[in-house]
Amino acid sequence: MSGTKVLVAGASIAGPALAHWLRRRGAEVTVVERAPGLRPGGQAVDARGVAKEVITRMGLDAEVRAACTDTAGAHTVDADGTVLETYRAEDDGGDGYIADIEILRGDLSQVLYDDTRDGVEYVFGDRIAELTQDADGVDVTFASGERRRFDLVVGADGLHSSLRGMVFGPRERYLRHLGLVLAFFSVPNEFGVDGWMVDYQEQSSGRSAVLRPLKDAKQAMAFFSFPAADFDVDHRDVEAQKRLLREQVADLGWLTPRILAHVDDSPDFYLDQVAQVVMDRWSDGRVGLIGDAAFSSSPMSGGGTGLALVGAYLLAGELAAADWDPVAGFAAHEQRMRPFVEANQEIGRLHVESRRPGAQPPQESEMEALMAVVDRAINGVDLPDYAGLPDSR
Ligand SMILES: Cc1cc2nc3c(=O)[nH]c(=O)nc-3n(C[C@H](O)[C@H](O)[C@H](O)COP(=O)(O)OP(=O)(O)OC[C@H]3O[C@@H](n4cnc5c(N)ncnc54)[C@H](O)[C@@H]3O)c2cc1C
Repeated sequence: MSGTKVLVAGASIAGPALAHWLRRRGAEVTVVERAPGLRPGGQAVDARGVAKEVITRMGLDAEVRAACTDTAGAHTVDADGTVLETYRAEDDGGDGYIADIEILRGDLSQVLYDDTRDGVEYVFGDRIAELTQDADGVDVTFASGERRRFDLVVGADGLHSSLRGMVFGPRERYLRHLGLVLAFFSVPNEFGVDGWMVDYQEQSSGRSAVLRPLKDAKQAMAFFSFPAADFDVDHRDVEAQKRLLREQVADLGWLTPRILAHVDDSPDFYLDQVAQVVMDRWSDGRVGLIGDAAFSSSPMSGGGTGLALVGAYLLAGELAAADWDPVAGFAAHEQRMRPFVEANQEIGRLHVESRRPGAQPPQESEMEALMAVVDRAINGVDLPDYAGLPDSR
């Protein structure tokens, strides 16, 4: 059935990527985004292994590479700034700690939006308020009051997905906090950050401070992380979040006091618990979830963007291969993706563990198993070529 009408909620990474592939397979796609426009900037995200292959199949290699941060690599330093270790972006075939495709989330979102805006209907500043499904479709009422009917609805609305709440139940059921809080915000580059990320970790307290280069060399991105037991940070109360950050890291050494001096002026302050989303199914009838909404692996996995891009490719392919039968299409997508998701979630958990106070580096005897998980998290999913399916590209 071509011309299947699909509503996608969320226009960040998973949403526009899914729109790209659904449109190519012949669906009519509407994307609804709660924010009044594309959300710019944000953290640096990266694509490795199969995710790079998906970008190539999208025909967006050149556009994505042109928008990359061009980070040369990372130095870890001690409290005096002495370099301890160096990782280069070209290490491990570009799939290492700093990937050669590293891009601000907002810039990747822009590339995906520019690519799809002509063939996809984007509605900004609105959201799904209510939905009811029957055997043939889904009736959606938007917050604006508009009512429309779709064949399928997919939530790509992130870690705190409202669609997940509406269809699958409250977020407490699915969010797994990993015991770490992460904050980031841009600062004036008075620190001489010059293409290299600089990473200070205090093993005894499990806290860290990081400065990353930005394309605009007059700015840098500061990151802090600190351990925290399972408490909920209100993600709307930015002033309380800033206070919490100050309390928790004020005595962390290195450049921390100078970086913290910019907290109040930062236009883009972010703080949240490092969390994963673990669900035993990602669809219910004609409604499915994708990206962080369904299977966030947490920022500490470095794989969330890859999961969003690969998931989008596979979901559109499997729905089209099932002739748009939602139950068969969603199930086939889930079967292909689940081991890949689990490997990325394991990397996220192991990374958080490695930052716990007093954590020991892995033993030589554990390295082989660890490298196998890393490889599964980067390459551990087949990408069928879906030859024979419609492809409008
Ligand atoms: C600090 C940090 C560092 C990270 N580092 C990395 C990294 O190094 N590598 C990596 O691969 N990944 C990283 N990630 C993860 C990466 O950002 C996510 O995995 C990725 O953005 C997932 O994309 P998404 O489209 O699923 O969700 P999101 O990017 O969260 O987008 C969700 C979208 O839905 C919109 N929305 C929300 N609610 C509604 C609604 N009700 N209706 C309509 N729209 C709605 C939001 O406005 C947003 O545009 C990091 C994340 C963070 C926070």
